[in-house]
Amino acid sequence: MLVALVPLGLLWYIIKAYGALDQRLRDLDAVHGFTGQVGKSLDPNEIISAAVDQTAEVLRTDASAVVVFSERDGAILKVHGVVGLRLPTQASDPDWQRLIVSERATLVSGNELDALKTDGSTITEILVAPIRDGSGVIGLLVVAGRSGADKRFGSDDLVRLQNLTEQLAASLRRGMLHQRIEREARHDGLTGLPNRLSFERSVVDAARAMTSDDLSFVIMVDLDRFKEVNDTLGHHAGDELLIEVGERLSEMLEPGDVLARLASDEFAIVGQRRTHAEMVEFAWDCVRNVGRPVTLDGLEIVVTASAGVAVIDGDHEEGAPLRYADIAMFNAKTSRLGVEVYRDEIDRRTPARLSMLGDLRAAIEDGDLSVHLQPKLDLASGTVVGAEALVRWTHPVRGVVVPQQFVRVAEDTGLIKQLTDLMLHRGISHLREIHDRGYHLGLAVNLSTHDLLDTRLADRVQAHLDANGVDASMLTLEITESSLLIDAPRARATINKLHEVGVRLSIDDFGTGYSSLSYLRRLPVGELKIDQSFVANLLLDEQDEVIVRSTIDLGHNLGLVVVAEGVENNEVLERLRAFGCDVAQGFCISRPLTPEHLISWLATTRLPSLKADPLDFSRWVDAGDSNDPRPVLD
Ligand code: C2E
Ligand code: MG
Ligand code: MG
Repeated sequence: MLVALVPLGLLWYIIKAYGALDQRLRDLDAVHGFTGQVGKSLDPNEIISAAVDQTAEVLRTDASAVVVFSERDGAILKVHGVVGLRLPTQASDPDWQRLIVSERATLVSGNELDALKTDGSTITEILVAPIRDGSGVIGLLVVAGRSGADKRFGSDDLVRLQNLTEQLAASLRRGMLHQRIEREARHDGLTGLPNRLSFERSVVDAARAMTSDDLSFVIMVDLDRFKEVNDTLGHHAGDELLIEVGERLSEMLEPGDVLARLASDEFAIVGQRRTHAEMVEFAWDCVRNVGRPVTLDGLEIVVTASAGVAVIDGDHEEGAPLRYADIAMFNAKTSRLGVEVYRDEIDRRTPARLSMLGDLRAAIEDGDLSVHLQPKLDLASGTVVGAEALVRWTHPVRGVVVPQQFVRVAEDTGLIKQLTDLMLHRGISHLREIHDRGYHLGLAVNLSTHDLLDTRLADRVQAHLDANGVDASMLTLEITESSLLIDAPRARATINKLHEVGVRLSIDDFGTGYSSLSYLRRLPVGELKIDQSFVANLLLDEQDEVIVRSTIDLGHNLGLVVVAEGVENNEVLERLRAFGCDVAQGFCISRPLTPEHLISWLATTRLPSLKADPLDFSRWVDAGDSNDPRPVLD
């Protein structure tokens, strides 16, 4: 027996050792298989799905689960079989804390397990391993329940689970990194919205998926004065505004719509609506919603937007819808339409932005811009007291281009400084000429709000006045009412300096902006120009009449000269006079004229041709000294 026992014992030992070795090899093989399966994909969802199934197989359990915590997308949870556990959805879950912060895989049973079980669960023990990446715990791998002879988990199961978890963590790290890189390549870092690259794909997809029932479209939304926000309030406020615009547009989307930020202040939406009218209404909603007041750095401002809409047509080449929406948007912006839908005609009429820009730059450099002058009439005395300088561009191909079509482009590209300088230079030298002819008129020149950020503007104005020997009191500078100027320290400094030079400041288009009374009181402004939109309907619209009358009273209370612009007929002019308005400007007095024409107009206003005008202008001229042909009072 003894003799037999020794070889038997030896045999038993060999078998056992071989078994352990075999098990280790099988484990190694299983881990290897696990890594192969789990590492097949770079998609975290697929990685987790493969891991949960593979873990159950390798550890021969009935149920397993993987939870990955993600701040952005919430927890990703995948379960194999029935785990019977209330799994955590956040890394901060108090019941799972000990297991989440644990360094290694842990066996859980008894009371601790009871706190984690769902009602009616019969499991008696589970293994839990935290999944870690460089920054800490990102999830948990859990195995529960085991049927068959080997019901209980042993220490080697813990080692196996630990190995699998480490493999899973490595795969997830790769997958998440890949996902992040992919995301960053397709999204805008500031707003988190898709970027141009990914938007272009969405447009191609929309064109392919189009059915005849629905109307697919691209809308391009662009802020009108974003550069001003950046310049006056700083880039931080600019960023805040873009985030807000992104959020406001996101709120308006319908399922299936895709919103993207294409470039600085340019947003775009691709979507579908049932009718053309619905599509246009949606574009208007976008423009209105973006244009609501926004508070930046404690300051409430209004930044309007323009939108261009292009219908996607399956026959168009790739990229066409975006280009068309861009052209429509550009037209909406330059013509201040708010929303424009692309049509072939506007493509022909609207010069491409770049060619316009190049031509404008050349026109400014070559002096192809000219000054037209529109007379201003003093209503009490009936005399011409001044003129407003309005820029005109005579394009060699397009003919005369009106300011609405290029002043905005100049503002957006920094060319405005040269444009203003040219207008001051030309305007003041024309004024010199007019004075030399014996007409003692004043001159108004329009400024852009960008000009007010130029700290040397006052010096330049002074230099132009000095060079022509014109007194500063003869010059008025018109600033369009713009909420953005409020409290912008640099603009305030320029306004004060201009005041010191002695020029008069005028608030142009008053009533269309958001400047408050208190704001006006704080500025050294000498004149208010009531916007022509109110003046035009003065006789037809009671509300407009009220606005005009109260603006005149308001101006006078503040000690300002009140000018009405856009006076197109005699009746309106009479009404303004009755309201006590000081000065009128408009087609019924004269259209803007070249300087030569203005001089001959001044000399010939008593000619019969002018008397035939609906406005009997001679009344006022005759009110002066009839021997003196000058229709002007000093
Ligand atoms: P604004 O300064 O309010 O100029 C008045 C505009 O109303 C001018 O248009 C003028 O031609 C037009 N207008 C005058 N009387 C009447 C009328 O009775 N009825 C109607 N319907 N319109 C009348 P314009 O010349 O096309 O200029 C448009 C705007 O472009 C100007 O509005 C001004 O904001 C801007 N602008 C013009 N010249 C310059 C410039 O040299 N520099 C800058 N920064 N802006 C300019
Ligand atoms: Mg003006
Ligand atoms: Mg105006």
